[in-house]
Amino acid sequence: MTSAIETSVSGLLSGDRRILAKTITLIESSLMCHQDTAQAIMERLLPHTGNAIRLGITGVPGVGKSSFIESLGMTLVEKGRRVAVLAVDPSSIRSGGSILADKTRMERLSTDGRAFIRPSPSGGTLGGVARKTRESMLVCEAAGFDVIIVETVGIGQSETTVASMVDFFLVLMLAGAGDELQGIKKGFLELADALAINKADGDNMERARIARKDYETALHLLRPASPNWSPPVVMCSAKERTGIDEIWEIVLKHRERMTASGELAERRKSQSLAWMWSLVKEGFKERFNRHPDVQRRLPQLLRQVENGEVPPPVAACELLALLDGEIQPGSAD
Ligand code: GDP
Repeated sequence: MTSAIETSVSGLLSGDRRILAKTITLIESSLMCHQDTAQAIMERLLPHTGNAIRLGITGVPGVGKSSFIESLGMTLVEKGRRVAVLAVDPSSIRSGGSILADKTRMERLSTDGRAFIRPSPSGGTLGGVARKTRESMLVCEAAGFDVIIVETVGIGQSETTVASMVDFFLVLMLAGAGDELQGIKKGFLELADALAINKADGDNMERARIARKDYETALHLLRPASPNWSPPVVMCSAKERTGIDEIWEIVLKHRERMTASGELAERRKSQSLAWMWSLVKEGFKERFNRHPDVQRRLPQLLRQVENGEVPPPVAACELLALLDGEIQPGSAD
């Protein structure tokens, strides 16, 4: 076992793609023994992580995310970068049957030896999927990838989750007819470190310019998250590969400023703590649900609370007290 871990760690550090894929499969496995091995590998890799630029990309289905990542990814590998593409897609059934970061959607990038593309872990809760992607991100960093792109769909909660694991969050937009801002949640814009209007090509140019102005105005009304950064709005075409370089320059400029001000380090610190607390909460919930005394007592207690026979705070106290026998300081596994 130990020597298998050693082999994986040294293979990963030397950038062995087969071992990288295998390790991510371990991370994604729900088997306890696989998870233990994955944790042991992760622990050994930790000192070799943290050096990549972590870039989150979101946008509604059809906005051009995979086309954009293909263009940006190719631009980056041509600049000498090594790019890993991961995804967070908690929905198991997707319209059209496509899965985020599906290899066929990034034809050139997926066959390029300087890139590594991994589809979203399937199934489970958003928290579960995101946890696996976070861990995979660290493994990719240890394997020498210096840009990690995490893709997600701009629906539901997944964009907030992805924003909480990256250094830079890019929101892709479309220039639509009518009210450009309709349907865009306010919180969505607040997450953005930059907005890019994609498909700014051909007949769509003029509409893209108008959309750009509208979004600039909308962003102006928001208080920027950092005193050192006002999220810019740019236009691009993933198809014609225009505006892509400009977006990369923005990412680099953001990094430079955030590093200089100490905000990057702060952002990562608070992300690590938030990640840890979410795992602690998840772990407690799991233990609670599994606890035999809780399982025995719960059905009756639920009925009693529903019928007004036991006040909710009393029921909660009783349920939590059932765990007291199990959780002792230092007994955590
Ligand atoms: P995703 O669902 O966000 O990943 O979007 P896709 O990358 O699959 O793109 C959806 C459709 O838009 C495809 O037919 C693409 O060819 C097209 N598309 C993507 N980017 C552009 C672009 O920059 N310009 C134009 N004209 N079409 C694009």
